[in-house]
Amino acid sequence: MPTVVYPGSFDPVTLGHLDIMKRAVKIFGTLVVLIANNPSKKYTFSAEEREKFIIKALEEEGMSNIVKVEVFNGLLVDYVRKFGDVVIIRGLRAVTDFEYEFQMLLANRTLCKEFELIFLPASNRYLYLSSSIVKEIARFGGDISRCVPASIIDFVMEKLRIN
Ligand code: ADP
Repeated sequence: MPTVVYPGSFDPVTLGHLDIMKRAVKIFGTLVVLIANNPSKKYTFSAEEREKFIIKALEEEGMSNIVKVEVFNGLLVDYVRKFGDVVIIRGLRAVTDFEYEFQMLLANRTLCKEFELIFLPASNRYLYLSSSIVKEIARFGGDISRCVPASIIDFVMEKLRIN
């Protein structure tokens, strides 16, 4: 059985991400959540904060002993090369996601022949949900309780709220 890895920015983790994690665990039994920390990308939350949020969310769901959380600084293909037998999971919300994701997949396959990826379609209730939308709502003091795990609401609001 290959190692199943769900990479992303998770800036911050949303209920949509968590839904993908739960479904991946249901299908494969275990999961590694890989937090991308690309030095050329600007994140709102530090890698430590993003990691803490995911750990809290997993604890809330009673999944902390099934899902492993790691931070990775390099290219995804380097992770795949380093650990060998890996299958990547990505979530798909809409056709727009598909175009971007498919392009990334083809690029990664060009860089690494062993690169394997499975797309999991988003659940209907989370089709609209993204980390950017959460940040937009939080900045203006809106209610993010239907967007992120309960255990991280206060942390997200504290950092982002501007009034
Ligand atoms: P990235 O910057 O790598 O795209 P994200 O944190 O935005 O990282 O997303 C990580 C993965 O989760 C991507 O495959 C994305 O399509 C998927 N994803 C994001 N939001 C949702 C959602 N609401 N439902 C299902 N999948 C999602």
